[in-house]
Amino acid sequence: MSESGKRVLVTGGAGFIGSHLCDALLARGDEVICLDNLSTGHRDNIAGALESGAFTFDEGDVSEPLDYKVDCVFHLASPASPVDYYGMQVETMRANSLGTMNCLELARRTGCRMLMASTSEVYGDPQVTPQREDYFGHVNPVGPRSCYDEGKRFAEAACKAYEREHDVEVVIVRIFNTYGSRMRKSDGRVIPNFVCQALDGEPLTIYGDGGQTRSFCHVSDMVRGLAQAMFTADAAGQVINIGNPNEMRVIDLAGRIRKKTASSSEMEFKPLPEDDPMQRNPDISKAMSLLGWAPEVDLDAGLDDVISWFRENR
Ligand code: UDP
Repeated sequence: MSESGKRVLVTGGAGFIGSHLCDALLARGDEVICLDNLSTGHRDNIAGALESGAFTFDEGDVSEPLDYKVDCVFHLASPASPVDYYGMQVETMRANSLGTMNCLELARRTGCRMLMASTSEVYGDPQVTPQREDYFGHVNPVGPRSCYDEGKRFAEAACKAYEREHDVEVVIVRIFNTYGSRMRKSDGRVIPNFVCQALDGEPLTIYGDGGQTRSFCHVSDMVRGLAQAMFTADAAGQVINIGNPNEMRVIDLAGRIRKKTASSSEMEFKPLPEDDPMQRNPDISKAMSLLGWAPEVDLDAGLDDVISWFRENR
């Protein structure tokens, strides 16, 4: 990785992944500007970072034009959990369209690199597994998830347009399901739901028959991957999956969490949301060869971490 001491803009830096990224950059010795409108992010997430003289918080919206002097830009600002983006469809599209264009404009003007936080959702409900970066995906452009999926697909296309037309250096990282401390109980994702339900003795809500799969990456591995993608010279122009290829069925995840929390919660089956992908598993061979990155936290240790977070924060 490159030398530290960079001046870095993190949009969405008060969110779940963004705030962990800010902490990792500060620990590297970088100077961090965090831009966040706090629509899903929270001040508590950056309480530690705010104690550092190298951290600045700017409460604002990435869909408005940006004016900073920075060496690189991470664009993470967007609602990201299905429950959040169902309730903020237009804002999600603005953050990923106007917000991405604003970040790209800033990168063009200042000659700096931009990392686009994209998503495994660009693969939609994939017909091939595991998903490699050269798979085009299988996305419903008008379904309930489309504000997010198509927003991120637009963002990726915008990155490529600025790269081809203006020589902007872009790295696109497709983030797969990530979990860890600072997730919100109310964000509706599967791990916060199951952990909080198990701790509160409520039924674990399984959507569909629970046979759908996901692969869960601990946030510490995720932010290490994001930093390596940003600071590896050869990553310029690349699209890179970052996630943990340890694929499992949702129902088995529920069983694991119930056991780890020693909970006697029942399982309650609910309808599968429309367009819920049936399988998701990243092919991470590119991240391994190009960045020398691989996940290090196994699900057992990661679940211990997130369970202890929710014991204190729910
Ligand atoms: N899910 C579930 N129960 C819940 C929340 C989610 O069975 O209480 C399922 C959901 O249908 C999906 C998977 O868990 O198949 C992951 O959902 P999440 O919202 O965490 O993220 P996604 O990968 O769908 O964006």
